[in-house]
Amino acid sequence: MLMQYAFCQCFGNIRETSWRGVIRVMKLAMTWVQPAFLAVIFAFWSLAPASWVNASTMTLAVLLTYGAVQALEFVSERHASWRITWREFRTDFFYLLLFTFVIAWFTQIAAENPLTALKASLGIATPWIMALPFVLQVALVLVVIEFGQYWMHRLMHGNYAFWLTHAPHHHMTQLNALKGATGNPIELFLISLSVVALLDVQLSAVFCASNMLTGITCFAHANVKTTPPRWYSYLFTTIEHHSLHHSTLFENNFSNFGNGLILLDRIFGTYREGFSEIVGQDERKRLSIWEQWVFPAKHGIPYIKAKLAGETPTVG
Ligand SMILES: [Zn+2]
Ligand SMILES: [Zn+2]
Repeated sequence: MLMQYAFCQCFGNIRETSWRGVIRVMKLAMTWVQPAFLAVIFAFWSLAPASWVNASTMTLAVLLTYGAVQALEFVSERHASWRITWREFRTDFFYLLLFTFVIAWFTQIAAENPLTALKASLGIATPWIMALPFVLQVALVLVVIEFGQYWMHRLMHGNYAFWLTHAPHHHMTQLNALKGATGNPIELFLISLSVVALLDVQLSAVFCASNMLTGITCFAHANVKTTPPRWYSYLFTTIEHHSLHHSTLFENNFSNFGNGLILLDRIFGTYREGFSEIVGQDERKRLSIWEQWVFPAKHGIPYIKAKLAGETPTVG
């Protein structure tokens, strides 16, 4: 009897100790998972052989990034109220494919190619960028993309016409890994614009910076409980920053515009501390894909009509 008691006690202690160990390892993993993701992406593109540096590899790397962060939602959940459902996943997956294949293709032909032609016709050349170490080229591309996205995002919150394209993204009532790519197609195109095509940069550095930003924005929308190191959340946008931006309060919406670099909000005075589990707009009605697509026309046409009639328009 005594032996049995001692065995149970000992087994209980081992079990308790191993659980404490598991919790400690999980805590450590959730502290370093975001920097580790960025380190892996950086290592991959810096070591990738030239034959791998193409659009197909980039597409695969981006899809793997989205998939890995989405999978983490099942390992370390942040809010039960944001738990992914089949309906949410179907919508998110549709947008992932739209963003990765259709919007990326359209951005290439409607913006990147004309910019490249403009660069050639104006004789713009920045060969000194090519001579920089890979890490600096990546940092430069990251800042250039984010600088444009910060001001575009801020414009979307400050101008009604632009807001109508961005509002569907804010009507989401929960956040998940793929939701950074969810919204009205016009907004997805506008937020993809950048002037990187005007610069002479290694293609692998452009892919690396874009892939790293995908990782950051993915985590910034993910239902993953993480506690990143302080330096990470000082520089990069986290779920805390971005969930506050998605909250139902206007003053919170008009803050934390950085999609990837929250540092820009700190510099331009729009940084706000905090987080919000309650996300959405107005009555927190979830929009269907169709409602997201017709949103600008549905609210924009009556607005223009009222303006033309000299009446005070209602804003949606
Ligand atoms: Zn916004
Ligand atoms: Zn968002």
